[in-house]
Amino acid sequence: MHFPAIGDFYKRLLFLLPFATEMPPEDRRFSYEAPMQWQYLYPQCGGVDQSPVPLNAQKVIPIGLPPLHFGLYDEPFDELLNVRNNGHTVEFSVPTTVYGERPYITGGLLEDFYEAMAVHFHWGSAQQKGSEHLLNGRRYDLEMHIVHRNTKYQSDEEARNQTDGLAVLAVLFKVVRTNYIYYQPGFTEILGSLLHVGEFNSSYTPAAFLTLGSLLGGLDRGNFYAYKGSLTTPPCSPAVLWHVFAEVLPISHLELPKFWQLRNRYGRPLLNNFRPLQSLERRQVFLRRPLEEYLWS
Ligand SMILES: [Zn+2]
Repeated sequence: MHFPAIGDFYKRLLFLLPFATEMPPEDRRFSYEAPMQWQYLYPQCGGVDQSPVPLNAQKVIPIGLPPLHFGLYDEPFDELLNVRNNGHTVEFSVPTTVYGERPYITGGLLEDFYEAMAVHFHWGSAQQKGSEHLLNGRRYDLEMHIVHRNTKYQSDEEARNQTDGLAVLAVLFKVVRTNYIYYQPGFTEILGSLLHVGEFNSSYTPAAFLTLGSLLGGLDRGNFYAYKGSLTTPPCSPAVLWHVFAEVLPISHLELPKFWQLRNRYGRPLLNNFRPLQSLERRQVFLRRPLEEYLWS
């Protein structure tokens, strides 16, 4: 049947309404098969300052940035993690540390204190590398996001509506063909959890008290790209001060495929959960190089 009078807008509306009405706020349904359609339900996905973007050492602003400061990152959590498959990724909420506060960061592009709220991952498939950000034209195999909220805002919703509401630390991983990689205990526990959270909505609690810093391994925390961007999943709020580390960490070719075993809410393989690159437009990208430590100390 054909309706010549019906506008494109209404066609989209009819397509989206069944989802829109049944969807509680924390159960955001979206598909990586059609990321261009996110904007019809989440207008900010078609708006300004979107992420991810390509990062290129040749195209950065040579202005010094202060180092990031990591508060309580190496203090143990006061409870065990709960690692969960939410249908789009594997994630866990960041507990408070034994000092009663969550780990936090400041420095870099951050003028305030940002406390760590949650950690999740983006990956590809056997055929496709799956980092979200590109470094010097290369896509890597895995990307970890540690999402932080500005402590001057009381809720995630409030923070998402501010341009300085959130800060995300991104770590990229490159697959290496060796069995002998020393992972920090935190990352080992996350990898071990993957086999237990294959099905949608399943979760697993590793039996170890970890620190947030133990996810970063021996990463050079002083060398990072920084820019103003957005959440890379709906609602794509342009509220994120991104800090993407320049060093790429190794992950064994025996461990990476564990991410590809996960399944989404429809029981299908949860693969390629990375958003396509977005236009940088006129945004500036900063790169903090190790040399600058001399200038700032
Ligand atoms: Zn992410």
